[in-house]
Amino acid sequence: MATLEIRDLHVSVEADNSTKEILKGVDLTVKQGETHAIMGPNGSGKSTLAYSIAGHPKYTITSGTVTLDGEDVLEMSVDERARAGMFLAMQYPVEVPGVSVSNFLRTSATAIRGEAPKLRTWVKEVKSAMEQLQMDPAFAERNVNEGFSGGEKKRHEILQLELLKPKIAILDETDSGLDVDALRQVSEGVNRVHASGEVGTLLITHYTRILRYIKPDFVHVFAKGRIVASGGPELADKLEAEGYEEYTKGGVTA
Ligand code: ADP
Ligand code: MG
Ligand code: MG
Repeated sequence: MATLEIRDLHVSVEADNSTKEILKGVDLTVKQGETHAIMGPNGSGKSTLAYSIAGHPKYTITSGTVTLDGEDVLEMSVDERARAGMFLAMQYPVEVPGVSVSNFLRTSATAIRGEAPKLRTWVKEVKSAMEQLQMDPAFAERNVNEGFSGGEKKRHEILQLELLKPKIAILDETDSGLDVDALRQVSEGVNRVHASGEVGTLLITHYTRILRYIKPDFVHVFAKGRIVASGGPELADKLEAEGYEEYTKGGVTA
């Protein structure tokens, strides 16, 4: 079983000609088959964690390690991270002009599996995954992210997740901007992937409401650039009732 290990991760960004430390010693282990939720107030550094693992050039790792089965993820190119089995939803936020969803998915699957999926089974896989997400088949012919609504972007993310079957998936704010129906469909997608037992998911969110639909194995509270508390699903219930106040005394980023 694949294991993602984040050890004492410190990350800085350059802003206004000064260096600002955002992540201040993040420790986390995610194993294939587990669902972890990271919850925390806005501005606490959750997206910075996701971007840092994805290799976004804006974020400088000043110390600490990120490994997948002992391999140094931070040394890998973005492509290598994908081939190693990591799915980073924020990796493809941009429009890809002239590339349809259908081509994009097949190219990604080919890169990750090391060979092109057999066309006939692939077409069936895509069709059934899209049906489960209640996506219009015409969506497959649209250009990636071109004019996608918030909900379409998130569905597309989950469609990729279901078809590419990574070992470790990191989903940042998958629930933001979704209406209740879309939230349910996206959550069911995450649950199906969890049920396969093959994917370790790190679900990063500010909202507690998605945890009415997705039951994580572990919940972590993120504040001030690190994980400040960890527990089981009961911690999500506590956060929904009480909010983050207890963890943010003296400010969110302090
Ligand atoms: P969250 O996802 O928890 O809302 P972020 O990781 O987006 O938090 O941001 C954490 C802090 O780091 C904020 O104060 C934010 O302004 C700052 N920050 C994040 N990314 C950058 C960046 N690229 N340049 C400057 N500041 C940044
Ligand atoms: Mg934010
Ligand atoms: Mg964020």
